[in-house]
Amino acid sequence: MTYSQNWNIDVVFPGIDSPELNAAFKTAADDNQKLAKTIASLTEQDENSKILAAADSLQTLEGKLGTIGFYLNAWRSVNYGKAEAGPKFDRLSKIDIDYTAQKQAWGKFLAALSDKRFQSLSADEKAQPIAFILNETRQQAAKLLDDNTEKLINEFQVDALHAWSAHYDTLSAGLSTSYTDAKGQKQTVSAGQALNLLDGIKDKDARADLMKHYESMWGKAENLSADTLNHLAGARLTDYKAHGINDYLEKPLELNRLSRASLTAMWNTVAKNEGMLVKFFARKAKLLGLDSDQISWQDQTAPVQVPGYEPRTLSYDDTANFIVKNFSKYSAKMGAFAKHAFENQWIESEDRPGKQPGGWDESIPALKEDRIFLTFTGSVNDAATIAHELGHAFHSRVLYDLPQWRQNYAMNVAETASTFAEAVINTANVEAAKTDAEKITLLDAKMANATAMFMNIRARFIFENNFYKARQEGVLMPAQLNKMMVDAQKEAFAGALSDDGVHPHFWTSKLHFYIDDVPFYNFPYTFGYLFSLGIFAWAQKQTDFESAYIALLRDTANMSSEELAKKHLGVDLTQPDFWQAGADLIKKDVDEFLRLTENI
Ligand SMILES: [Zn+2]
Repeated sequence: MTYSQNWNIDVVFPGIDSPELNAAFKTAADDNQKLAKTIASLTEQDENSKILAAADSLQTLEGKLGTIGFYLNAWRSVNYGKAEAGPKFDRLSKIDIDYTAQKQAWGKFLAALSDKRFQSLSADEKAQPIAFILNETRQQAAKLLDDNTEKLINEFQVDALHAWSAHYDTLSAGLSTSYTDAKGQKQTVSAGQALNLLDGIKDKDARADLMKHYESMWGKAENLSADTLNHLAGARLTDYKAHGINDYLEKPLELNRLSRASLTAMWNTVAKNEGMLVKFFARKAKLLGLDSDQISWQDQTAPVQVPGYEPRTLSYDDTANFIVKNFSKYSAKMGAFAKHAFENQWIESEDRPGKQPGGWDESIPALKEDRIFLTFTGSVNDAATIAHELGHAFHSRVLYDLPQWRQNYAMNVAETASTFAEAVINTANVEAAKTDAEKITLLDAKMANATAMFMNIRARFIFENNFYKARQEGVLMPAQLNKMMVDAQKEAFAGALSDDGVHPHFWTSKLHFYIDDVPFYNFPYTFGYLFSLGIFAWAQKQTDFESAYIALLRDTANMSSEELAKKHLGVDLTQPDFWQAGADLIKKDVDEFLRLTENI
């Protein structure tokens, strides 16, 4: 073994109960109090340097909170199910709430400045790196109501928006169902287990049986779910209205620094390109041994099996070297960075009990380093996951010398570097396949992203958009929500789904509809995926890809999505061409898949 599969997080804090972590909490809480006083004392007449010093202090504190947050999350991920982290997270969230209040006060201070005074502040040389963010903060703060009203709204939302979201967690945690597995045995599973199983059950009948019970399990919860969804959205709409926002898409677009014209252009291009995925699913249905050329909901990501082929298992070292080698083909810096991460114990990948499922990357502001968490079992999917997380880490790496706020890129561009890195490795994997059977399996796995982004996520967006439109007029009954969801699925899947293969209660089974912090937790995924595919297509044509790519990443929290694309890629997101270039890359994979599977 060349590379360790265990990370080094003790350099951040020596333990969950360490005096060092305790001291960090105390310092952060003290900083908050000092900041509150500083911001309250700011006036229009103050020197730029004094005002900008407050911005520095805010960012320093944000970095400190980020470092604590990183450690708690990392500790919990490798001590899954242990209770010790709970009170620490609670302590952190209280400081976070205070920090948010200081940031709101800061925004209000900026909003209260005259235009002339604000312009002279943001034109200051020292303000340059955060000038875009200052302006954005000022504009958003202009919509805030007086302090007492804001406070009252936030307090009420604890028992409204946030309460409904938490209620959904309680509701879903209590659900379970049973199904008959491939061996004919009855199995009882929780809602979460059922969802994990649905992705991977190889036997089509067992998969269909689980789906039937999964759908009816959520059906039994439809009255409670409908109350939850209606009131969660109602609380959000009332909050919008209080702030003079009459368009339910305004906030989601603002959070992603995206224009409506770009969103429309993206979805129109997606809709135009669904035919190729219908063909892909028809072939997949055949390979899965289904009775028709349409799939059912549970078949979307079911792995196809090619007779006589067993996927090979990769060693960790080989995977690491493969990633370093293929990253280096695009960028020497990306390759060297990945090597550094493998060599310096930035990655926790060991397969052992007590670890949380899933994978993530997070930066540690105090060290200007990242750490990556996952469980490596030797599959090509795991290799793609490491590449994905290393992509995130590389994104952090190129931002470390910039102010903290320049590292706060939006959700839609957050997945750019990760999806790009994943595409590099997925493509290299397909190219390195030794047999057609292996290639088919890899292409099938690679297509899971494309079909999810074009069809599954689009169905969620269509549903949510129609739901919010209707919700403005009043609450919706479960039967209406079911119909709305089935219509959305039929539109988004464009005939790839059979009539009885739809999932009417997807509006209740999908957690993303019930997230309180982020509205419309769907279109940023499709944006990020297509944006990174556009970059992948663009990368093939660049002579100096590396520096152009790094320059783009460095601007991800420094302008709107449209300006980012225009400045660095020379493309217009409000027009179909850029989006189509991404769709064309998918088409190449579909064509190859269809060609290879023609005679199976
Ligand atoms: Zn990611």
